[in-house]
Amino acid sequence: MPDQKNAAAIVWFRRDLRLTDNPALEAALATGQKLILLYLLEEAQADSTRPLGGASNWWLDKSLRQLARDISDLGGDLTLRRGRAEDVIPALMKQTKAKNIFWNRRYEQPARDRDAALKKRLQSTSVKVHSFNASLLTEPWTHKTGSGGYYRVYSPYWRRVEASYSAPPATAKPNRLMTLPLPSEDIDSFNLHPKQPDWSHGFSPHWQPGEAGAHKRLKAFLDGPVSNYIDQRNRPDIETGTSGLSPHLAFGEIGPAQIWRAVTNRIESAKAEEKNATVFLKEIVWREFSYVLLYHNEDLATENYNQKFAHMPWRTSKSDYEKWCHGLTGYPMVDAGMRQLWQTGWMHNRVRMIVASFLTKHLLLPWQLGEKWFWDTLVDADPASNAASWQWTAGSGADAAPYFRVFNPITQGPKFDQTGDYVRKYCPELAGLPTRYIHSPWTAPPIELAAARVELGVTYPLPIVDHKEGRARALTAYQNVKSAVAE
Ligand code: FAD
Repeated sequence: MPDQKNAAAIVWFRRDLRLTDNPALEAALATGQKLILLYLLEEAQADSTRPLGGASNWWLDKSLRQLARDISDLGGDLTLRRGRAEDVIPALMKQTKAKNIFWNRRYEQPARDRDAALKKRLQSTSVKVHSFNASLLTEPWTHKTGSGGYYRVYSPYWRRVEASYSAPPATAKPNRLMTLPLPSEDIDSFNLHPKQPDWSHGFSPHWQPGEAGAHKRLKAFLDGPVSNYIDQRNRPDIETGTSGLSPHLAFGEIGPAQIWRAVTNRIESAKAEEKNATVFLKEIVWREFSYVLLYHNEDLATENYNQKFAHMPWRTSKSDYEKWCHGLTGYPMVDAGMRQLWQTGWMHNRVRMIVASFLTKHLLLPWQLGEKWFWDTLVDADPASNAASWQWTAGSGADAAPYFRVFNPITQGPKFDQTGDYVRKYCPELAGLPTRYIHSPWTAPPIELAAARVELGVTYPLPIVDHKEGRARALTAYQNVKSAVAE
């Protein structure tokens, strides 16, 4: 048996792919032991964590490569393994005689149960398991309402966090990483980058996965756009209107505490920016609130939070669903959003609400279908924010948009994409239309359509559902839920 000093400690990276401000890594470094920096590609199986979607796999591929380079720059190696954690980790501990393992906690099921089971098993072999919070400001069980339950309404949750949270002191990036040399899988063998076909060409110009990319984004945002956040955060035509930090947060390349610290420092040095910066922090806390909901409702991605929605007479239409997925609904704002998602792996928040409302209300298709499509196509797909936001838009969630609030897919266009540039970018076949018709091409006179080379039903679809009829159908369907409330 090696003595404590010569023993190695394992740091198991999961959704915390960073070296700075990583509590598990920091605690492992404090032991003074050699480290095994492990990333385990967990094999999909019925009881495993939800397999990542295609776009997230694209991100993971790049993020792991970057993490490996960052570790190598500090003199160490990232060890890649594949398999079931309950097989790989005990075997690795046995092989290396490691007696300590460090990880940052996960909050979704079944990952939570699997971590707990693994911890129990390892502890029974006198291994010490050290777990930390790296991905939330406050863990989902921390704040309780006056009646002792969890928060189901966002605003009081925000007020509670705002009043009580202060970010712990920053920890520095390690100067050196001494790792135990071990055989590692080749990242290419993980097959995370899409092949045959490679649909990800549009992703790279938008993103720099990895810790450095995350900090570059945060700095760029705080150096300017944050000052206009209130005015511009709903403008999909302005690329810098929001921070674009969501995929970095989803993979833990940056933690919310780091963001909180940077934003509050900024407020201290530029008081005039307080209002904008606070609205930005409120968004960070929407993510936290989503985790509260997920933690207390483990089936949030599949089951209605509001049970009354079991009475919702959802339609089934494969063809409508496919048109929605591929941005062929005939509503330019919806189509631009769905194509932005396909091309870049991301969609602006305002447009996410529009397309989600369109699917669940105008098309009356179950929100779970949209949640699944987003899970597969978003680089920022997040188990809590995706599920909670889909339920919020559908009306079935906690503190949700009232079901009768149906986003108007036509008027949202001129309101939030005033120049039509967003639609022109993602629906280039409409680019020649004058701005007054860009969000409702079917209202353009034939002469304008001809001049813009738009042939409705040929070069661009006619609306797959009439707005007024779709809205009325959704509201009638809602009566089922309402009468269930009265039961
Ligand atoms: P910014 O405006 O710069 O906000 C900063 C951060 O705050 C974001 O990175 C994000 O972490 C958080 N945030 C902002 N808005 C929300 C919100 N409404 N809910 C929760 N957190 C928020 N976000 C995801 O991270 N992953 C998802 O899978 C996801 N799915 C969504 C599905 C639907 C139907 C809707 C309506 C929203 C979804 N969101 C999701 C929330 C939101 O759209 C994105 O977080 C945001 O667009 C990310 O862009 P940004 O980083 O530029 O945001």
